[in-house]
Amino acid sequence: MFSEFDLDKRLLKAVDKLGFQKPTPVQTATIPQAMDHKDLLVSSETGSGKTAAFLLPTLHQLLTRSAPESGSRMLILLPTRELARQVMKHFKQLAEFTHLKFALICGGETFKFQRALFRKNPEVIIATPGRLLEHIEHGTPDFDELEFLILDEADRMLDMGLSEDVLKIVSCCNMDRQTLLFSATLNHRGLSKMMAGMLREPETIRLNTVRDQHQNIRQQIVVADDSLHKGRLTAWLLANETFDKALIFTNTRMQADKLGGYLRSKELRVGVLHGEMEQDDRNRIMQLLRQGIINVLVATDVAARGLDIKGVDLVINFDMARSGKEHVHRIGRTGRAGEEGLAICLISPQEWNLMSSIGRYLRIDFERRTIESQLGKYKGPHKTKASGKAAGSKKAKQKKREKEVKTKQRHRDKKNIGKRRKPTLRGVEDKPTPSGFKPLMKKK
Ligand code: AMP
Repeated sequence: MFSEFDLDKRLLKAVDKLGFQKPTPVQTATIPQAMDHKDLLVSSETGSGKTAAFLLPTLHQLLTRSAPESGSRMLILLPTRELARQVMKHFKQLAEFTHLKFALICGGETFKFQRALFRKNPEVIIATPGRLLEHIEHGTPDFDELEFLILDEADRMLDMGLSEDVLKIVSCCNMDRQTLLFSATLNHRGLSKMMAGMLREPETIRLNTVRDQHQNIRQQIVVADDSLHKGRLTAWLLANETFDKALIFTNTRMQADKLGGYLRSKELRVGVLHGEMEQDDRNRIMQLLRQGIINVLVATDVAARGLDIKGVDLVINFDMARSGKEHVHRIGRTGRAGEEGLAICLISPQEWNLMSSIGRYLRIDFERRTIESQLGKYKGPHKTKASGKAAGSKKAKQKKREKEVKTKQRHRDKKNIGKRRKPTLRGVEDKPTPSGFKPLMKKK
């Protein structure tokens, strides 16, 4: 129960309004420690409820402490605009019954407008590193009195090459703050370097490492010849699966556009989201999806990062994710907060090995699925001689026998070196010897 956390009653009212019955594991583990003013290092996936896990204890403290005269009190850094908007939405919900104000500072919005936001002195800044750093370079924000610094999806910030920007921002923050760092994995190579000096004797909370599977998500593979075949399979799946909302991942922007066009030609209600789209267009697509005007979103990884769309119960990996971590992020879009989900990977011959290694790494036992009406030429890799049924089959036994006979023959031939060969019956009629000598025929 949330009431056990001793949170400010305005926050409990908001939690109640959101209909959260009980805290998720990351909330149970994080909230008391964060309320106890500890720096935290938390491994947890998107979809685990981590946003409320850092917002509730920090907002509680903002509400119960006396505020400084000016300057921001809390900074939340996130890798992408979509994730920042997501956190902003959650902030608005949880802070609904409080006076706390926020500013969203990320690329794609006008710089001047954002400067004006800082002047309003909001308690909470939700930002992506690049744009915030530009403002810092112009001397706008004031983080001298900062009480809380939150780094969300830190591993992703490292992957995106944002660590330098993050470090510069952190160096401008009040040293006497509380820092909470969230990451899908704590094993990221760059993490300890980035963290050094940023966290003070942090408590580590390990909930979901990247290897932890989403138990409520069924994971299937369907083999495909090429991207045309994958297109047909995707259209079939969308026409035949029962789902509320579906997310389809491609590895490239071009493929996302191409697939979006193809699926629209099949009269499916599809939107496309990729990193090179204007912010307004992205917002419009997300709005259409939330309103249910479209129910399928074709997206690249960067664009889909941090999206939390209610009711995604089908994920199709049109292209296999390039790493186990990326795969986990993708399938984490479905089955959120305990709902059931289905994730289907379409696997071309070139992707089979990648899929197998991701499966081994994450210990996923992919369920093999065939769609009879859409079968292609590719049936998965050939079985090796020594593996599976082939080893014990009739064919294999026959081959083994032939090999043994050949070996014996060679052995006999060696013993007869230098000896005159007796004529045999084999091939007599077909091959008379050049001298006209005909071997003796056996009398009947
Ligand atoms: P997050 O991991 O923060 O992106 O949250 C994923 C989703 O879970 C969001 O839609 C939240 O509204 C929802 N959520 C967070 N905490 C809870 C909870 N205790 N019970 C039910 N849903 C929750």
